[in-house]
Amino acid sequence: MQMTVKIGKNDYRVDLKSPCNISIPVSFDKKQLSAFGGSPAKKEAYKAGGFVGDVRQGGSCNCEVYSFSPHLNGTHTECVGHITGKRIAVHDIATESLIPVTLVTVTPKKSLITDAMLKKLKGDFLEALIIRTLPNGNNKATRNYSKVAPPYFTAEAMHHIVKLGVRHLLVDFPSVDRVDDDKLVNHRIFWAKNPLTKTITELVYAPDKIKDGHYLLNLQVAAFDGDAAPSRPVLYRVSK
Ligand SMILES: [Zn+2]
Repeated sequence: MQMTVKIGKNDYRVDLKSPCNISIPVSFDKKQLSAFGGSPAKKEAYKAGGFVGDVRQGGSCNCEVYSFSPHLNGTHTECVGHITGKRIAVHDIATESLIPVTLVTVTPKKSLITDAMLKKLKGDFLEALIIRTLPNGNNKATRNYSKVAPPYFTAEAMHHIVKLGVRHLLVDFPSVDRVDDDKLVNHRIFWAKNPLTKTITELVYAPDKIKDGHYLLNLQVAAFDGDAAPSRPVLYRVSK
């Protein structure tokens, strides 16, 4: 299946057949990533009366109770409710289906992503922006971030992203801020204007086979009544 869309002044063909998934799922049995020193995600079989929610233990079906944090255990999308006293749910904010997006790869300098690294960005596909950082090994899916200093933005870089008109920002590290910055300066810069139209997605993983360039993005945020929820961002290739 293919469709044609108009973005800016140009028509593009969208390849709907081969979506590129850039999520790290919340894992329970496999090796997991660890961010902010959080506990690993856990699951246990639901038990009630004589029922056990595990077929291997003789139950009629599998039914597990999960314990995890969207922020700590995998790809997640968050809204301004992350930093407000008022509780705002991301599934009320992330309602768009296909969003023009640019994927760009940068090499942080001493963990920092600066505005100079983002100066070449322009065009009609900046409603969303995905930042992929080098090195880009698949250990991003299982990395322990208390042992490495993850990348983050300078405030100038975040101001530049806002100026570009980006409403959905995706990054392949645990936080757009330095992990020990409890003021969350960059989150606040991003959500300072029109906060109810914007999301941040952290801990994505875009393998090298997905090239830098333009795509349509479907965020696929789980129906979860929290400031953040596990998400499965998917990219569709476009061509003129
Ligand atoms: Zn965040």
